[in-house]
Amino acid sequence: MSLSPINDANENLLGAVRHDWTRDEILKLFNMPFMDLLFEAQVIHRTHFDPNKVQLSQLCSIKTGGCAEDCKYCPQSARYDTGLKASKMMEVDRVVELAKHAKEAGATRYCMGAAWRDLKDRDVDQICAMIEGVKDLGMESCVTLGMLTSDQIGRFKQSGLDYYNHNVDTSEEYYKEIITTRSYQDRLDTIQNVRDAGINVCSGGIIGMGEKETDRAGMLETLANMPAHPDSVPINKLVQVKGTPLYDDSIDEISDFDFIRTIAVARIMMPKAYVRLSAGRESMDKKMQAYCFMAGANSMFYGEKLLTTPNPVKNNDMALLAELGMSPEGHTMSHEDAATEAKLTDAIVPLKAGGTREFDPSIAYNSRAADNVTQ
Ligand code: SF4
Repeated sequence: MSLSPINDANENLLGAVRHDWTRDEILKLFNMPFMDLLFEAQVIHRTHFDPNKVQLSQLCSIKTGGCAEDCKYCPQSARYDTGLKASKMMEVDRVVELAKHAKEAGATRYCMGAAWRDLKDRDVDQICAMIEGVKDLGMESCVTLGMLTSDQIGRFKQSGLDYYNHNVDTSEEYYKEIITTRSYQDRLDTIQNVRDAGINVCSGGIIGMGEKETDRAGMLETLANMPAHPDSVPINKLVQVKGTPLYDDSIDEISDFDFIRTIAVARIMMPKAYVRLSAGRESMDKKMQAYCFMAGANSMFYGEKLLTTPNPVKNNDMALLAELGMSPEGHTMSHEDAATEAKLTDAIVPLKAGGTREFDPSIAYNSRAADNVTQ
């Protein structure tokens, strides 16, 4: 008996890492009954990750606004009047100081982003110094700097860069509706160059930009069919910013369930990637975020406000994790359920000899199999 489209195609390969996803297959996942989809995503999640840990990243804008690109969602584009004041690149000492605060507040990765089309050689030394400063704190480093030359990537690698973020944003078909100043292929080339340099790739996209379900499927198809899955997959929910072209009443806000489905499908397709809740999280209530964790999200950007919060346990993010019995990755779990959780995981997905886990479909109702009977 098969449980899902995954097993229909690959018996006993639940949670296998694949790079040959078809659009139809992905759309079938999107159209699974919600509870079945969540259950499957959670089972896969548990085969690769501690379900009660969340990796925390802090994002710092090291150079804000004034970007020449025309990404329709972005308030940092110089083409749109959003009231955002452009700034120069931050000093290295300030960036490292902020990273230190982020570490004290629980973040294990520090991401530095600059708003521009591509990096100028004159800025490379300064960014290398930031990367080295973050590494000296014992944190993972990540930068997002647009397009890069291979020489620049090589310099960052020497400085110890762990991750490079470059999102594909959406499906290849819908991309031209969102950005015209650089092509989808430009993005894929940058990602490939980063991977070739031995730097981990962080790549995801934005949903809620007026795209169709097939575009969400297409975005995940692009990411999952890369030669290696991105190590981190940020799933952003569009935040409509006044002044940008996507500040538009005619764009329906994505439903909570469709957003959760996207997280779950990403988890199933890229079982070992960190799936990250990113932009738009501030508009999600606690239950919505809990559903996203259930669907396999296991990373999130920390709110900027956290930096000024004296006691992190008092802030909303930490309160939510504590309420759910979860804790930040790399930190001691504060609840007492670790042993119980391990037993539960073992009961659902028994550990086989050799350390692999194999899901026993007989413990679950299989609505898809029932569908198949009537077809
Ligand atoms: S390249 Fe980045 S900073 Fe520039 S407009 Fe696009 S999303 Fe915004």
